[in-house]
Amino acid sequence: AYRCRSAFKLLEIDDKHRILRPGQHVIDCGTAPGAWAQVAVQRVNAAGSDPNAPTGFVLGIDLHHISPLEGAALLPFSDVTDPKTQKKIQEMLPEGKSDVILSDMAPNATGVREIDQLKSIQLCLSLLDLAQQVLEPGGTILCKFWQGRDGSLLQKRLMEHFKEVKLLKPPASRQESAETYYLAKSYKTGSAVQSR
Ligand code: SAM
Repeated sequence: AYRCRSAFKLLEIDDKHRILRPGQHVIDCGTAPGAWAQVAVQRVNAAGSDPNAPTGFVLGIDLHHISPLEGAALLPFSDVTDPKTQKKIQEMLPEGKSDVILSDMAPNATGVREIDQLKSIQLCLSLLDLAQQVLEPGGTILCKFWQGRDGSLLQKRLMEHFKEVKLLKPPASRQESAETYYLAKSYKTGSAVQSR
C-alpha cells in the first residue's frame, strides 16, 4: 500500500510521460511521508526486485522525519534549499550524479495566496542550483508549484537550462486547485548554459 494518495499523481504522470526507468538515480525532494519515493523505488528498481533489470537508486530528502523505506536512502530533517544539504545530497549519490530530480515540496501555507505562490516558486528555483551540481546532461526535473503571477519566471529559468519544458495541468476535475507541475527534460550541459 502507498503511504499517501499522492502516489497516484506520480504514477499517472509517469505512465504518460515516461520519466522513470530501471537503473536511474533519482532525488525525491519533499519525501515525507514517502509515497512518491515508493513509486520511484519500484520504477527504477532501486530495491533490486527485478533481478533482470538494472538496479537504480533513490534518495529522499525532507524537512521532517521520513519512515525507513526499503530501497531508498534518506536524508530527513534537511532543507533542500540549503547549500549544505545540496552538498550532502551530492555525497550520498553514487558517483555524485542523478538522472531525475522529483519535487513534490510545498511551503508551509501562510494563507496569503501571493506569498505562498512565491515561496513555492522559490522552492522550485532552488532545484536549479541542485541540478547544476548533480544532474546529468539530458536529465529531468519534475516539480510541483502553485500557479500564480511568478510562474512565468520559473518557466523562463527552466527553459534556459532544459531543451523541453512542459506545464502539466491537473485534470479538469481538479482545476480549482492551483497545484501544477513543470516537467523539464533534456538538461543542457554546464558549458552550453555558460556560453550564453
Ligand atoms: N511526495 C510526498 C509523498 O508522496 O509522500 C508528499 C510531499 S508533501 C506534499 C510536501 C513535503 O515537502 C512536506 O513533507 C514538507 O516537509 C516538504 N518540504 C517543504 N519544503 C521543504 C524544503 N525546503 N526542504 C525539504 N523538504 C521540504
